[in-house]
Amino acid sequence: MDWLTIQQLDKDTWALSEPRHWEETHAYLLAGTKQALLIDTGLGVCDLFSAVRSLTSLPVTVALTHAHWDHIGGCNGFPAPWVHRREGPWLERFPLSREAVLQNLTHGAPPFPPGFELDTYQIYQNGAGGLLEDGDCFQLGNRQVFCLHTPGHSPGHLCFWEPERGTLYSGDLAYEGKLDCFYPTTDPYAFAASVHRVAALPVTVLRPGHHRLEVEPCLLRQIDEAFQHLKARNALEQKAVHSFHSFSIHTA
Ligand SMILES: [Zn+2]
Ligand SMILES: [Zn+2]
Repeated sequence: MDWLTIQQLDKDTWALSEPRHWEETHAYLLAGTKQALLIDTGLGVCDLFSAVRSLTSLPVTVALTHAHWDHIGGCNGFPAPWVHRREGPWLERFPLSREAVLQNLTHGAPPFPPGFELDTYQIYQNGAGGLLEDGDCFQLGNRQVFCLHTPGHSPGHLCFWEPERGTLYSGDLAYEGKLDCFYPTTDPYAFAASVHRVAALPVTVLRPGHHRLEVEPCLLRQIDEAFQHLKARNALEQKAVHSFHSFSIHTA
């Protein structure tokens, strides 16, 4: 299996994934008739730019669900990425040290591809191309993609919503695996409110930021119920990993 896998999801949408790394990140390329949108850029281990160029010759805008290192890694080569205004500064000065990022990157000793040099690995720090707010919209020609501010996992977390196709790109707000709301910059109450908000949308296709790609949209309702359950028991502020059916919630 290659480090970067490309899966065509429909005639003009692709997932670019890194399944050999424990984080199993997904970036998504959405091609419209005039513009393409790349949602997230993965770990920065492989040449994402060439992969995207092999799929479309359209101008590409990069939009980030959030500015964590595992979503901004492949930004180099593209025009500077768009991010929610609350995380613009993180694209110039990342809040974690390079050592901490390398610890995560090398966890489990992943079989990095030939040509990748750990010594020269850099976190993207070239700034934002633009700052986003809730309700902003990317016009791709025949496709419209809306930004939903869904804080909690991080202060400026965004989900991207394509209402015409009922598709939600959920970043780190919803996936099968451990949902993280224990960092100093997370807010479990905001996380709960954000999940509650997107669970009310008519989502027919859910595209997560990590782990299994083929997840059912009912996952949103399940995560929403789990947060409500923890909130009712005052458990959101306690340090714990709460396990549910196909996901867990790491609090405090
Ligand atoms: Zn994250
Ligand atoms: Zn992530």
